[in-house]
Amino acid sequence: MPDTTPFSGSPRALANKSMKQNLFDAIRMALQVQSAAVRHNTQSFNQSKNKTLVTLPDYQQLKDRARAIKERSIAALPELITTLEASVKRNGGHFHLAVDAKDASTHITDICTKAGVRLLTKGKSMTSEEVGLNHALEAAGIEVVETDLAEFILQAADEQPSHIIAPAIHYSRERITALFKRVFHTDDSLTTGEELTRFARERLREKFLAADAGITGANFIAADSGTLMLVESEGNIRMTSMMPPLHIAIVGVEKIIPTRADFAPFLELLAASATGQKLSAYTSIIQPPLDAAPVLADLPRQREFHLVLVDNGRMKLRQDPALHDALYCIRCSACLNVCANFQTVGGHAFGGETYSGGIGGTWEATTRGLANSRFSELCTGCSRCLPQCPVRIDIPWLNTVLRQRINRNDAEQTFKALEIANSGVFDDDEGASLQKNFFGRYDVLGKWGSRLAPFSNWMNSLSLNRLLLEKMVGLDQRRKAPAFAEQTLVDLFQDLPTQQVKALENDIKSKVVLFADIFTNYGSPSRGMAAIKILRHLGIDVTLSEVTADGRAALSQGLIATAKEQAEHTASKLLKYIEDGRDVIVVEPSVLAMFRLDYRHLLDSPKTLDKIQHHSYEAIEFIWEIIRRHGLDPTKLFPAAKHSMGTKLFYHSHCQQKTMNCAIPTEELLRAAGFDVVTSKVECCGMAGSFGYKKEFYDLSMAVGQDLFDQVIQTEMDGSKRTLVASGTSCCEQLQAGLHRPVLHPLELLVELIP
Ligand code: SF4
Ligand code: SF4
Repeated sequence: MPDTTPFSGSPRALANKSMKQNLFDAIRMALQVQSAAVRHNTQSFNQSKNKTLVTLPDYQQLKDRARAIKERSIAALPELITTLEASVKRNGGHFHLAVDAKDASTHITDICTKAGVRLLTKGKSMTSEEVGLNHALEAAGIEVVETDLAEFILQAADEQPSHIIAPAIHYSRERITALFKRVFHTDDSLTTGEELTRFARERLREKFLAADAGITGANFIAADSGTLMLVESEGNIRMTSMMPPLHIAIVGVEKIIPTRADFAPFLELLAASATGQKLSAYTSIIQPPLDAAPVLADLPRQREFHLVLVDNGRMKLRQDPALHDALYCIRCSACLNVCANFQTVGGHAFGGETYSGGIGGTWEATTRGLANSRFSELCTGCSRCLPQCPVRIDIPWLNTVLRQRINRNDAEQTFKALEIANSGVFDDDEGASLQKNFFGRYDVLGKWGSRLAPFSNWMNSLSLNRLLLEKMVGLDQRRKAPAFAEQTLVDLFQDLPTQQVKALENDIKSKVVLFADIFTNYGSPSRGMAAIKILRHLGIDVTLSEVTADGRAALSQGLIATAKEQAEHTASKLLKYIEDGRDVIVVEPSVLAMFRLDYRHLLDSPKTLDKIQHHSYEAIEFIWEIIRRHGLDPTKLFPAAKHSMGTKLFYHSHCQQKTMNCAIPTEELLRAAGFDVVTSKVECCGMAGSFGYKKEFYDLSMAVGQDLFDQVIQTEMDGSKRTLVASGTSCCEQLQAGLHRPVLHPLELLVELIP
């Protein structure tokens, strides 16, 4: 059924999510209207990007070079602005520095009014969206024509962009047809992409020829020469910048880099990361003001150029020790496209007035105030965007920092304050709501839940209790709460006779400590026991650590101070084992991600960090490495044919496992043991720890998971039932909720096969 539904109500209101309720409404509306188009379009970008990136032999080095240039540029920004001003003036252009959005709009309106501009064409520019430029120009009686096809569609619809490089990504072709028919009252056939493009082109051509001025942004601007780099796929920016007698470029200060030579790595990375093109269809490197092209004999040869540099919070962001990396962003959109939540609701729900997706929160906080970054709550911290960012920005960390600040502002009801400058990370978690404390302190909940089990589990099953929990802490009633273990991992380990597992006779000298994380200890101790039994079976010396909260639960709620304290405590405990020659084995991938990825923000000592990062392994990653290193035979260790549930599996790995490149060992081990494994192709199961438990996000969580459920159903269309296997506690719960079948952890599957 083609999706031709127009938005009900004002689309601009949909994009305005400064209040909490608006965010939930926006999610609901996006799930009803936009889902399919955004998912289809972002996934197409991803497929094409993945194909292109593997052809870049020096991809990692390119990223390092790009990051280094941005670091140097932002560090030297005040000097670069001065150099750029001199370059622009030397070239014969005019230079303006706008302190805020209003100032930028006023500068540009004044320039246009003085030049007698009546009609103006515009290339796509997020900075112009950010400062509300069109409204200001239209209020001055100037006709503004968006020439980017997607912006042309949004101008017709009176909507905000929902994606930074593909602003109308939420539109299906059918909806564009319906929109054009409604707005332009045309009988033209507008069924195919070609017909729609031709229709827009014919209307735009006459505007290009008649325009008095053209406004563009810039992807980069070189301070040494005032050279602009403009990247696009339609050619409209080239016409906008080269045809009218007046060219105005509106550019955020963070786009300045020292020299033209510094464009090089970005030329390769930008298009590849964005759309998967090796080079954008049109790349203009210009040093305005340009002479009019000779073919345009009717136009004056001398042209005027104005550069309007925009600060609007950026120089404050530069001073912010916790968020300032957002200034390195080159707006490629790779982080949006790979994000499962963004794919499902798009930028009108996972975004603010201008900027969207995981990186959008910091930009909205910077340019419009912290209140406008509330949508960053949709970042689950899954980390899928981390390896995609060409300038290596830790996007989930930025959103965690925002969450801590939002927690504070929620409590104080002071949503007006932008004050992000120099805030850094707070060393207390004041202001966090009951919901944040409930989900962020599973260490306390798990401890008491287990001590009081089975009573706590009985309480959990009562509908009245579930209703109360939904009201008080937002735990969605539709979600089955995980049971507390009556015997924790520590209890079971103490009862485990060492001789119970018959070790293989080999010369493996490895010593490890299994980390008793709170989720495994209080929620799924059988997985921890399975890891211990398998490791002992291989002849490895295994002990169990003390139970400590590693900080994962707290961090996911923005309780950074709590997470830091827990991280320091956990690290000090684990360090003893590491110094005793033991590696640390982790069952839960999200906990391993704390050690390998997040502890860099939480631990004070670089030495401790280095030890924790380099001595921690996911359980099967470690087991597979031992098997390979010692030439053991997986078919003898884990004979798949003997499994009570058969050899056909459907395996879903965890997001953070994929980011850390440790999902492959599980697939390899299962296959090597003789299992017939179909692996999940979806980005994410949608559960993401506590995210899927919250009543405000439950529907989104299940909508994200639908792709995964569909893939299982599709795989089993041949009539064969497969055992469902997943590596994360959340992934197991989500698969169970969506398919109403048991789901095993790979360790639980393998432990059944050892004698
Ligand atoms: S961490 Fe995950 S949820 Fe957050 S922005 Fe990145 S991909 Fe999206
Ligand atoms: S944060 Fe990184 S991946 Fe996301 S848009 Fe910016 S540069 Fe691209």
